Amino acid sequence: MSADSTFDAIVIGGGIFGIYAALHFARKGLHTALIEKEPQLFTKASMVNQARLHGGYHYPRSIATARMSDEHKARFTATHKDFINFSFEKYYAIDRYGSLTDAAQFERFCAYLNIPYRRVHRHELFHFDRIEALYATVEHSFDPILMARYYRQAVQEQKAIEVYTSSHIRAAEAVAQEWRVEVHTTRQASPFYIRAPLVVNATYSATNAVNRLFDLPPVELMHEISEIALLTSPDFSELGLTVMDGPFASIMPYGKTGLLSLSSVAYTHHKVSYEPVPHFDCMDRVAHCSPWLQGQCNACSQQPRSHYRKMLAQIRQYFRPQVRFRYYHSLFTIKSKLQANFIDDGRPTEVLCLREQPAFWCVFAGKINSIYEVERIV
Ligand SMILES: Cc1cc2nc3c(=O)[nH]c(=O)nc-3n(C[C@H](O)[C@H](O)[C@H](O)COP(=O)(O)OP(=O)(O)OC[C@H]3O[C@@H](n4cnc5c(N)ncnc54)[C@H](O)[C@@H]3O)c2cc1C
Repeated sequence: MSADSTFDAIVIGGGIFGIYAALHFARKGLHTALIEKEPQLFTKASMVNQARLHGGYHYPRSIATARMSDEHKARFTATHKDFINFSFEKYYAIDRYGSLTDAAQFERFCAYLNIPYRRVHRHELFHFDRIEALYATVEHSFDPILMARYYRQAVQEQKAIEVYTSSHIRAAEAVAQEWRVEVHTTRQASPFYIRAPLVVNATYSATNAVNRLFDLPPVELMHEISEIALLTSPDFSELGLTVMDGPFASIMPYGKTGLLSLSSVAYTHHKVSYEPVPHFDCMDRVAHCSPWLQGQCNACSQQPRSHYRKMLAQIRQYFRPQVRFRYYHSLFTIKSKLQANFIDDGRPTEVLCLREQPAFWCVFAGKINSIYEVERIV
């Protein structure tokens, strides 16, 4: 039997938060193991999202989330500028019917946060019969594909990080001041064991499945199978529109890919699970996915039928009838949210120390530009 490998830290989950934590620890001189269940890093929520570099506009019902978005934006923008599309016009609109906000409230909110907005009364693409108020804002989008390439390479080049892909934790125990973790990999039949005095759980939708393996309490989450539709328009590319606030929709450039990402509060989310670990009926029909070890929705034969037609019908209402759209493809993943934010729609990033000596930190990510919150761990 081979001896256990020992590390200063073990990070579970190779999305942007886990990768950033591992890079941060390595820069601090910690020998770090990064464990990722899929064959490749950066394939789940960090890849399948609307790529909005949040500046606060999106959260008129959660000042805390709006503040956190704005707080990290400058740093994230400076360090990711090669992956950010700065060149498009970004509009926010208030729906004339059934919005949870209105023009006066939105303006007060932007003024309070000190984020720029300019009321626009005319635009050749938009249909003002459905829009109470339209605002030109300053909001950019990051390119998940370029970021994935950058972060995959960054961990590969960092000698202090050992990356284990196609690997997941099966069991863990505290032995004196260390965690002893049993890791299963598809590359070999028998498990191997690693040890460290610090474990970070950055598995997002699998947060509670991993917490349980360490005998630690769950975070109160809800989960949704979510779809981001990708499309193009022959009539515009460098423009985005988000309609506030409630069951509305958003279309904007998907980074620098030339595609537009489309989401809708009503149709992006296909199935909902209020259990601590996500449980969807599709999981019962495949062998590679379960509430405790989720598979990859994008590669799954049981992924939901696309809602792109409904999403498109919805967003079209805010554009003039002659504006054309062409559907390209959809991406699916599990989106998880804190149950506490059900009403205000906030998306804080939680960095929780659930145990000291050996230490266990749980990172539950709200927005991508809040990756710096993991620096609180070390
Ligand atoms: C539909 C949607 C739209 C969004 N839109 C935006 C947006 O516009 N802007 C924004 O800033 N944020 C957005 N978000 C939120 C953002 O995408 C997430 O907060 C962020 O990507 C989470 O990163 P992560 O690294 O924690 O999770 P992930 O990227 O999901 O990474 C978690 C990793 O853990 C791995 N894992 C899971 N279980 C195990 C295990 N047992 N062992 C080992 N590895 C495991 C997974 O395979 C995965 O690679 C959106 C999210 C979704 C789903």
